[in-house]
Amino acid sequence: MFQADLLKGKRILVTGGGTGLGRSMAERYLQLGAKVVICGRREDVLAKTAEELAKSTGGEIETAGCDVRVPDAVEAMMENIFAKRPLDILVNNAAGQILAQTHKMSSRAIDAVLNIVLHGSAYCTVAAGRRWIDAGLRDRVVLSILTVSSLTGAPFTVPSAMAKAGVLAMTKCLAVEWGPKGIRTVAIVPGPFPTEGAWSRLMPAARGGNEELVKTIPLRRVGQHTELANLAAFLVSDGAAFINGDAIVIDGGKMLQSGGGGAGTQAMLDWSDEQWEAIRPKR
Ligand code: NAP
Repeated sequence: MFQADLLKGKRILVTGGGTGLGRSMAERYLQLGAKVVICGRREDVLAKTAEELAKSTGGEIETAGCDVRVPDAVEAMMENIFAKRPLDILVNNAAGQILAQTHKMSSRAIDAVLNIVLHGSAYCTVAAGRRWIDAGLRDRVVLSILTVSSLTGAPFTVPSAMAKAGVLAMTKCLAVEWGPKGIRTVAIVPGPFPTEGAWSRLMPAARGGNEELVKTIPLRRVGQHTELANLAAFLVSDGAAFINGDAIVIDGGKMLQSGGGGAGTQAMLDWSDEQWEAIRPKR
């Protein structure tokens, strides 16, 4: 689909790149010649992924243990990365999600999601952007991974939808503020893509499983990781150099079919207390 060297020489940080869609994007970037850094909290998960991807792609991949909720940790990570060689591209992918009745959410649960998605994306973006701007580096890109709920709203996903809507606002603000400095900010809005993380949190069997889900998608299937990874490669490549401040939806048409409430959670409006109890995370 792309020239094999589409991203040759680009240095890319993928937050949350040890698992799920972050891992799939990291893999595609490596296949296209980029040098990739993946970060996350669980260093064992990062190390295993890095080893597997280095083997399968032959590419150069590093890991950085970092909790993006902690500003000093983000600064230290960026300092280390830039000391070796400045980044060309940042992918804000790390996220958390809680599916729950909003009036029953604790402040801790709300903060947990906002801190990772909203604050973490802002810390990473500012830490990279400041270094690019101070050094006069141009042709840089920030790609953020959003959710359909950030565009349409969706019941029971309030902290995530709020946080991702904030990241979309950041994307649009910085497109104008940093565009003249040669930095593009873009976003992807994925529909359902099976990952262990998303499926365990968002698609409990209690919701009817994949069979019910695909009925809500006009193409009658969920997304494939390669489809999202290819879009993520195109958007950060020089071929997309005139795309700035936009969020591209990749969801098989789901958002249009559901007419809002993109996470498909409306069906949960009639749930009983017992059904909610059954999916409550047990700690
Ligand atoms: P996932 O596998 O659970 O990935 C989340 C990643 O974020 C993990 O690697 C996790 O690693 C990392 N992370 C979480 N908290 C962190 C923190 N405080 N600091 C650093 N890293 C942190 O989920 P996914 O499904 O691939 O989701 C990837 C992205 O796509 C997310 O932004 C999600 O909102 C978006 N998305 C996914 C879907 C879908 O259907 N899969 C749909 C719409 C949007 P550690 O736990 O080791 O830190």
